[in-house]
Amino acid sequence: MTRIVYVNGDYVPEDQAKVSVFDRGFLFADGVYEVTSVLEGKLLDFAGHARRLERSLSELDMAAPVSMEALLDIHRELIVRNDLTEGMIYLQVTRGADADRDFAFPDPEKVPSSLVLFTQAKSIADSPAAKKGLRVISIEDQRWARRDIKTVQLLYPSMGKMMAKAAGCDDAWMIEDCHVTEGTSNNAYIVKDGKIITRHLSNEILHGITRAAVLRFAKEAQMVVEERAFTIDEAKDADEAFITSASTFVMPVVEIDGAALGDGKPGPVAARLREIYLDESRKTAL
Ligand code: PLP
Repeated sequence: MTRIVYVNGDYVPEDQAKVSVFDRGFLFADGVYEVTSVLEGKLLDFAGHARRLERSLSELDMAAPVSMEALLDIHRELIVRNDLTEGMIYLQVTRGADADRDFAFPDPEKVPSSLVLFTQAKSIADSPAAKKGLRVISIEDQRWARRDIKTVQLLYPSMGKMMAKAAGCDDAWMIEDCHVTEGTSNNAYIVKDGKIITRHLSNEILHGITRAAVLRFAKEAQMVVEERAFTIDEAKDADEAFITSASTFVMPVVEIDGAALGDGKPGPVAARLREIYLDESRKTAL
């Protein structure tokens, strides 16, 4: 079955899905994105992703290509056309294709923003990695200073994944001033003496949609949550650790820079939060 992709108003087979070489996403990484998970053919936390997209667009003075209601319809149409039961929908908005390459933003009245969405079919709920746990390395955080905006400039996170791969590991946690900011494509957490610790929200990290939901569920379950920066040394000495993201939900981390956490197996807090997150998200899926 050929994948059907949405490009600027049209649903086309993937080999016919094209954007201009002058698209500012291609030339300047002048674009933002969202990834929304799909379970049993339904979208998880669409409202959260739509809200963050609106914020990313507004921080960059970029026009929304369609309304958020229309965006939901496009997501649903892609699920139907691709018969998607489980996986993700990737969405990207760029500042469109100007007539030439120019650093200055084009007039949005003359150059409309560009919108592309595609599906990624994948088994995400029943994950072998969730049973085994991830091994991570730490690397210096060399990204720009507005990590709260979900832009498509993902070169450094890609390099981080390659550094992790070269070290025989699964991911990298990024460090700034000895403190962990986040994973290459996820938010980072440690658990110490039953307390869940994760970095507070600021421009230094992406405000994860999964993070917001998981912290809400943790508090509802009477778990203690502390939102503050933690050092990499504190992380290596933690009882357990985990990451969150839309496509991995809650995923345990069992090793940091070669040091095993606790008994080196996925911890009970991460396992419980993963279960709660999946149960609760399924209930509100659209
Ligand atoms: N932090 C970074 C740098 C990310 O790229 C992502 C997801 O792509 C996240 C955190 C997790 O965000 P969310 O839970 O909204 O997927």
